[in-house]
Amino acid sequence: MTMLAPAAGQEESGPVSGPDFRHVRHWLFDLDNTLYRADCGIFSQIERRMTDYVARFLGLPREEARLLQKALYRSHGTTMNGLMRLHGADPDDYLAYVHDIDLSALAPDPALNAVLARLPGQRTIFTNGCRHHAARILERIGAGHLFHAIWDIRTLGFVPKPDPAAYAHVAAAGLEPKTTAMFDDIAHNLAAARALGMTTVWLDTGSDFSSGAGLFEAPHYQTRDLPQFLNSIRI
Ligand SMILES: [Mg+2]
Repeated sequence: MTMLAPAAGQEESGPVSGPDFRHVRHWLFDLDNTLYRADCGIFSQIERRMTDYVARFLGLPREEARLLQKALYRSHGTTMNGLMRLHGADPDDYLAYVHDIDLSALAPDPALNAVLARLPGQRTIFTNGCRHHAARILERIGAGHLFHAIWDIRTLGFVPKPDPAAYAHVAAAGLEPKTTAMFDDIAHNLAAARALGMTTVWLDTGSDFSSGAGLFEAPHYQTRDLPQFLNSIRI
């Protein structure tokens, strides 16, 4: 039987050109600055509380604590990992403190939720943050029912992205890298995913911090607008 290109059916099956994601059955999404816009001030609250925590925990002046926090992030993947390994910090205490933030700037995102809902297969949150924070964010943006699972820093055994060990959970959860796509605003977090064979998409938030230009193999795709990108792909 000859298949005619149906004008009416085109909308149903999505775009016929654009990035090809027809092989993808598992969709891994970072949370912070990926599922909500980086300019809404949510993550900057977390960053301030990370600095506050370092200052309080180590008894440092705030500016010194800020510099140490950045150094720990660079050397250990997350501030928390550095505080745990070098200074014996309690991860539960740290996570509860830094995620105790005001989410009133976040609102339901119907455009994002509609396009997430049409992705075939399972959608999973893959975050260096904690499950409680992820659940609060998902509730605010109205996307909680769209995710099959949340992999948080505890799921990852307190080994954060981009440490290759953090990606062991992909296989442990039974996901095939070649049928998995990963979205993250930190390009560095995508390098290990790409090396494993996943399809990678970088959310460019316009900060030098998130690009890591030239430091590692670039992601397959980049975008400044997640709903627009997801609307453009072939699935
Ligand atoms: Mg992020």
